[in-house]
Amino acid sequence: MEYDRRSLFARALGHREVPSPESDALALQRACEARLREVEAMEPLSGLELAPLLAENKLSRRAFLAWTSAMTAALMLPPLLRPQVAKAAELLNRVPVIWIEGQDCAGNSEAFIRSAGPTVEELLFQTISLEFHETLMAAAGIQAEQRKQQAAQMYKGRYVLVIEGGIPLGENGGYCTIGASGQTFVDEVRELSGGAALVLAAGACAFYGGIPASNPNPTDAVGVSSVVSGKPLINIPACPMNPVNFVGTLIHYILTGAAPALDSLGRPIWAFGNLIHNNCERRAHFDAGEYVQHWGDVGAQNNFCLYKMGCKGPFTYNNCSIVRYNEGTNWPIGVGHGCIGCSQPQFWDTLAYERPMTNASIHAPGLAGWGVESSADKFGLGLLAVVGVGIVAHAIASAAAGHRERQAQEPPKAEAKAGSTEDHQGTGGEE
Ligand code: SF4
Repeated sequence: MEYDRRSLFARALGHREVPSPESDALALQRACEARLREVEAMEPLSGLELAPLLAENKLSRRAFLAWTSAMTAALMLPPLLRPQVAKAAELLNRVPVIWIEGQDCAGNSEAFIRSAGPTVEELLFQTISLEFHETLMAAAGIQAEQRKQQAAQMYKGRYVLVIEGGIPLGENGGYCTIGASGQTFVDEVRELSGGAALVLAAGACAFYGGIPASNPNPTDAVGVSSVVSGKPLINIPACPMNPVNFVGTLIHYILTGAAPALDSLGRPIWAFGNLIHNNCERRAHFDAGEYVQHWGDVGAQNNFCLYKMGCKGPFTYNNCSIVRYNEGTNWPIGVGHGCIGCSQPQFWDTLAYERPMTNASIHAPGLAGWGVESSADKFGLGLLAVVGVGIVAHAIASAAAGHRERQAQEPPKAEAKAGSTEDHQGTGGEE
């Protein structure tokens, strides 16, 4: 399903009656401008401004404008709103953020700070008023705990709470305790979410428990949605979450003052509304029945589809095939490994293996006709099984079509003998 980009944003801004796409875009622009004026009137909290930071790190205005265009497109906004997106980025230093970590590897934090050179996302991350982040802050121990309590008091009702990592419920939460007080992580999450304006669950572990929650889940780990209620909660899954999706969600918040439209699993539709498979650079090979059959074969050398090597892109909703990682440099499928479905619930137990879905014991509940283009919003988690059937049929049909086409193109047997190779090697060699 294709989402109407403008209507997603219009919903967030409360503009439902839109006579035409043009006036819709202009109405959006006016509403965003009004909201930006409100945010600009607030005191900057971090003391850091984006423009000097960009200059200091030799990132030109042109690079920032290119980033702005990419972010506007990623947010599914009309290009008309690029100046407002740029302004929102500059105003990120008005948002107080408290970032806490439970059962995690800090990979979502690392995704921002481990790039070869400072990226725009990384610099934006510096301008955010990060009131507490145990991995990045200088303070430690009691001092750090006090800082967190002060920030929660000072910005009550205003701060964005970012939660990274799973939340263990076993032994009354005793598998993860915080500092000298021994407060359990689950209690910390409950306490801090109470005063937050918005809660972001960053990464796969905060989404549903992630790897700590994988079978047999010895600590009874869960995601944020199992603990937090009564607050706007946005899940930004993946392992790690893409910094673009985190920054984009904050920019959306600055522009609208609200959470973006979410799918049935609480993920922003602008980022998780489409299957990876729909925008994959290897999709043409999937459609042509051209697959990598073994690591390092001719298909692999020619960037054929990784479906038979266990790629779960057809079952995974995320935008990483479009925005990629590290300033759009590359992504797993781009470097030759299939998608492991890390933005889907229970991915470690149900998707992250190097075999096609056909080997899994997932059965269709009988909704024939739904293909791989089905939307997460419509079907959600349970319908992965149906998609599984759709893609098997699709793969068989594609393989048959490819085979027929190759047969039609093959010369008579006697002539073909000297040049014959295995199916995909022949095709790969011609490319
Ligand atoms: S199966 Fe994987 S590699 Fe193949 S087209 Fe789909 S997402 Fe890309």
